[in-house]
Amino acid sequence: MTAGRKNCLSCDRAIQGRSDKKFCNDSCRNLHHNKRKMPATACVRHINRVLLRNRRILQGLFTSSRQTIKTPKKKLEEQRFDFRYFTHQSSNRRGQRCVFCYEFGYRVLKDVVMVSRAMRSNE
Ligand SMILES: [Zn+2]
Repeated sequence: MTAGRKNCLSCDRAIQGRSDKKFCNDSCRNLHHNKRKMPATACVRHINRVLLRNRRILQGLFTSSRQTIKTPKKKLEEQRFDFRYFTHQSSNRRGQRCVFCYEFGYRVLKDVVMVSRAMRSNE
């Protein structure tokens, strides 16, 4: 084994050629970098999925032209609404703190949730 000879960081095969190379070829380099990025990507995907499901559940409440719907918290949880994830928070005109999932704003009042759509988010 010659001094300074290294193995590919991706496939662990001995690297031929220049001693400063870290990978045997571009596909090994890409594979290695994609692997490193994966946990972050998976996290973003997971959160996006949860947020979009939350939004779909809220959207499903608005079957009429009403702007505000009162619904049991349990009903949302049964549909796997995840209260840990939301897009932003804001106060409404009455100074009440609202949690948002995109264009839907809601307030949890004990067992019921007041949901409004297209509420101004003061941004
Ligand atoms: Zn390789």
